[in-house]
Amino acid sequence: MKTNKKIFLCAICNIESGTCNEDCKFCTQSVKYKADIQRYKQKDINQIVQEAKQAKNNKAIGFCLVTAGKGLTNKRLDFVCKAAHAVKKLKLDLKIIACNGTASLEQLLELKKAGVNNYNHNLETSRDFYKNICTTHNWDERYETCLNVNKSGLKLVCGGIFGLGETQEDRISMLKSIESLNPMNVPINFFHPNEALPIVENSISKEQAFTLIALARKMIPNAHKIMIAGGRELMFGDEQYEVFNKGANAIVIGDYLTTEGKTPSEDIDAIIKSGFTIAKECDR
Ligand code: SF4
Repeated sequence: MKTNKKIFLCAICNIESGTCNEDCKFCTQSVKYKADIQRYKQKDINQIVQEAKQAKNNKAIGFCLVTAGKGLTNKRLDFVCKAAHAVKKLKLDLKIIACNGTASLEQLLELKKAGVNNYNHNLETSRDFYKNICTTHNWDERYETCLNVNKSGLKLVCGGIFGLGETQEDRISMLKSIESLNPMNVPINFFHPNEALPIVENSISKEQAFTLIALARKMIPNAHKIMIAGGRELMFGDEQYEVFNKGANAIVIGDYLTTEGKTPSEDIDAIIKSGFTIAKECDR
């Protein structure tokens, strides 16, 4: 059972929460569904700095600045740049990831100047199925943002979410599209139901979910990390560290955007107990 496989940890910082006018049917941050979550515009920069220090203490190697909303506006760009700059100044040796929706090449270059290393933009599902989960913007815009990330010199983080009622064909199609973008990291989310959302239940079983992780690893061989993000605890329960035996080598630690995660020390202890080691740095 013992293995030296390194597991990378990444922390999320929700710097603008629950203010989105889009209608993604899996997302509690849409104002349309009135889910019972915290909603705020700009998190205080001091608070963001504290969370970055905490992430470092929790052995994270990545710190992701996430905003709700379709994409970057001038105001949002300015705020994310300020936050990135403040975290960079701490010299914590954390990779800064920005996750702020659709973005132009010029906006991405601004983020890079402010110290952002990676940009996360998920395709979410297949091009064909996308209209079933969102009617306020289209999949092609998402793909285009990912192309912009690659042009900008930022490293691309691009994944999706399973369990929205998509077919196996849709899942394979999404993984192919992700592969075509050659991302460095691939976050995989599993739908976490909420009574306010139009999608009522997660449509995949635990066994199917394990198979999908292995499939993602196989279909996207050049990705440095296959990261299990939202829905991990709910999807896998007691077997959640099995994901590392199926092909994943990274997880999000701490709380998610609008749902609670485990305490980081619980995850770290369990990862080590399962025979893996925690990565101390990331050279990518
Ligand atoms: S655009 Fe992003 S924040 Fe807005 S509803 Fe869709 S997934 Fe949620």
